[in-house]
Amino acid sequence: MQIAIEHLAEGLHPIHLEDMPAADFIPDVDGRFASPVKVEGTLTVSENSLVLQADIAVAMTFSCSRCLEEVEEHISGEIATYYEKTDRAIPEGEELTESDDVEILDYSAKSIDLSRRIAELVNLNIPMKPLCSEACEGLCPECGRNLNKSVCGCGTRQMDHRWHTLKSLLKEE
Ligand SMILES: [Zn+2]
Ligand SMILES: [Zn+2]
Repeated sequence: MQIAIEHLAEGLHPIHLEDMPAADFIPDVDGRFASPVKVEGTLTVSENSLVLQADIAVAMTFSCSRCLEEVEEHISGEIATYYEKTDRAIPEGEELTESDDVEILDYSAKSIDLSRRIAELVNLNIPMKPLCSEACEGLCPECGRNLNKSVCGCGTRQMDHRWHTLKSLLKEE
């Protein structure tokens, strides 16, 4: 996801971007994108720097960690990045270091790329254990039935079994 900066005059520019990320936008994630990534914010351009502040929002689908049904999660957050412009002639000994919120940009750069920032943000906000509902009953460990949809006999049988054991214990006393 890129913002073209080549022809931007100094000042404040509203940013509206919408882009469907590629399936491998965030590698090793057990979920997929269900909506485009929306970027809404501002870019402040000045002679030697750019400041981006934007709200990021996207929907993703995951498997419920209990019943494996599809769950849609809305992931959102804010990115704020300061781009410091520089030319290649960085004086000897002077260090320009990038940090969490600062990136170094060449004066000749034609665009800024938000992909890494967005991927980081989404990655941080992905639910560890997605749930279709807090009350999800999950799958029966014996027959695999989705217990949100119907009740199987396995649990009942277990109860009966325990009850019989208890009764036989009582008899022995
Ligand atoms: Zn569930
Ligand atoms: Zn069962």
